[in-house]
Amino acid sequence: MATTKLVLATRNQHKLEEFEAILGTGEFEWVSALDFPDIPEVIEDGETLEANAVKKAVTLALATGLRALADDTGLEVSALDGAPGVYSARYAGEPPDYAANNRKLLDALADVDDRRGRFRCVIALAEPDGRAQYVEGICAGTIATAPMGEGGFGYDPLFIPDGEQRTFAQMSAAEKNRQSHRGRALAAARERWFAS
Ligand code: IMP
Repeated sequence: MATTKLVLATRNQHKLEEFEAILGTGEFEWVSALDFPDIPEVIEDGETLEANAVKKAVTLALATGLRALADDTGLEVSALDGAPGVYSARYAGEPPDYAANNRKLLDALADVDDRRGRFRCVIALAEPDGRAQYVEGICAGTIATAPMGEGGFGYDPLFIPDGEQRTFAQMSAAEKNRQSHRGRALAAARERWFAS
């Protein structure tokens, strides 16, 4: 079977582990932005997840001459009109801090009954000539009233996917990946772009 050579446009170790677990290694031969330390970090200044994902993928594809896959993810909370959304990484300010973001989210939802939210993950694929496409994956759930669990990263200790009693941080990596926004977006990517 032919392998597809890809560069994953992230230096986030947690994301790389999830990409690796979900994509596997058989049909994909991939490297990551960590293998290209001279390429500067992309500034995520887009107003949408789609714009940021495409920018990251296109920048790395043009710089490396490889097909590049990038994700951009946001947590969209109903009672906050979709915030923090595209600003999820820096919700509590600079530098990005997972614990501070979670504290700010809990404060924003203090005394709020409607705790529905969803993760939305946009995955972009860019060709070495700069053309790009994207797909999305959504995971709906609720925001817990206190952090629970040690696994995962980011908002995982606060996010309980629909149909579960536990947060993503209380699940194994395999359990999270089976139902997560990133798992669903990568399944859509595989079907759309890599189905043989
Ligand atoms: P990014 O811009 O795609 O790196 O993601 C923005 C922020 O969303 C990150 O800093 C994390 O706080 C959060 N995030 C992204 N993916 C996940 C996830 O799978 N679980 C929990 N939080 C996540």
